[in-house]
Amino acid sequence: MLQGIETKAIGAEPPARCRSSAARRALLARASDLGVPRGYARARRLRLQREPARLAAIGTDVYGRTQWLQPRAAGALAALRQAALRDGVVLEVVSAFRSIEYQLGILQRKLARGQPMAAILRVSAAPGYSEHHSGRCVDLTTPGFAPLEETFEQSRAFAWLTRHAATFGFALSYPRGNPHAFAYEPWHWCWHAQRAGAAPATSTTRHK
Ligand SMILES: [Zn+2]
Repeated sequence: MLQGIETKAIGAEPPARCRSSAARRALLARASDLGVPRGYARARRLRLQREPARLAAIGTDVYGRTQWLQPRAAGALAALRQAALRDGVVLEVVSAFRSIEYQLGILQRKLARGQPMAAILRVSAAPGYSEHHSGRCVDLTTPGFAPLEETFEQSRAFAWLTRHAATFGFALSYPRGNPHAFAYEPWHWCWHAQRAGAAPATSTTRHK
């Protein structure tokens, strides 16, 4: 039996998603009204992300909340975590699927606290453009490290991911100097269907 990996969330309902492209456009318009700059997506080389029709529970995160991914990504993450455990590495989930509406709430809360839009958009994607909307991405941590801190790159877990994540189709989305002008996120890993089963990286370089 694997400890610490729950694969079912009994009685939990997946988070709501946009029911139509009109609903999605309405949320994007609200983000624009809040001050997301015109031309944001092009300037940051970001694609509009679609929310998945189906979501599978992946167990609870470090805060005890049930988290969700699209089913194939959920399966890939379970395999990744099990392989890590076999090597003595515990990977914990901080965040997984987030809806466009949820991202809009993040933006509203940060603005309400007085943070400038430019500062917010350096660390948070504008609603509609977070990879988390796709249900293919997770923010990971490991015991002994604070969630969503750059120091995660000093963990054994990060070293393990750098070496093995590609085998399971996961890649680091925002390395240092990424073309999207996001802050470095050693914790954010995204599953790409076409990369699943790819040969493991042979390089021991941490950030490539
Ligand atoms: Zn993330």
